[in-house]
Amino acid sequence: MSKINVTVWNEFRHEQNNEAIRKIYPEGMHKAIAAGIAADDLNIRTATLDEPNCGLPDEVLYSTDVLVWWGHIAHNEVPDELVAKIQRRVLEGMGLIVLHSSHFSKIFRALMGTTCSLRWREVGERERLWNIAPNHPITQGVGQYIELPHVEMYGERFDIPDDGKLIFISWYEGGDVFRSGVTFERGHGKIFYFSPGHESFPIFYDQKILKVIGNAVRWAKSPNFIEITCPCVEALEEIKKDDSFVSVGVVQDV
Ligand code: ZN
Repeated sequence: MSKINVTVWNEFRHEQNNEAIRKIYPEGMHKAIAAGIAADDLNIRTATLDEPNCGLPDEVLYSTDVLVWWGHIAHNEVPDELVAKIQRRVLEGMGLIVLHSSHFSKIFRALMGTTCSLRWREVGERERLWNIAPNHPITQGVGQYIELPHVEMYGERFDIPDDGKLIFISWYEGGDVFRSGVTFERGHGKIFYFSPGHESFPIFYDQKILKVIGNAVRWAKSPNFIEITCPCVEALEEIKKDDSFVSVGVVQDV
């Protein structure tokens, strides 16, 4: 069986600009995620914003089966042309795993068509993510819930479309709740939004969080990429002529 080509993309700014965050992720969150989900069936690359072509030149983007995305303070530095290319690739079948503050990334908002806004608070409270889809491929091996001792709270209302399938619902020590794991389909592509992953907590070392991300990568891999076209086609059967029909686009004499 061929391996799944995974690209873990990270804007990689906090880890370079903030000493405390660099201590948690010395090589960046992308490297921690890549190492944490490493397995024989995955061919994993990493990419960062400051690399040429934002780390996603065509040869990388078009050989990626599933793209994992982490962004926060530099969403606007991702060029619109690249976002359009990624969006098209998702519609053709590329999987997309959207982590934490990437709820406000250009690519997620483009695919959702909503603001993707939410409420937040950073006091390091406890979070419990309840697994409400125990038979879903994404939740295998994580049990009834995932508990994280210190997180940034992301709370409702989360402005995402209603067609998402809920996988995890979060409870927070401070009383808020959140749809913390949601899947979507757009075109031929599968998308998973997963809220844990604030940069100042070591969440991408948590074995259950890594398990979910690894599961999501395998779930999001499409069997095929399907080029999006809009062809005019011949009928398979003969169609009886009907003189009352006038084709749209044919100009009629008045
Ligand atoms: Zn955060």
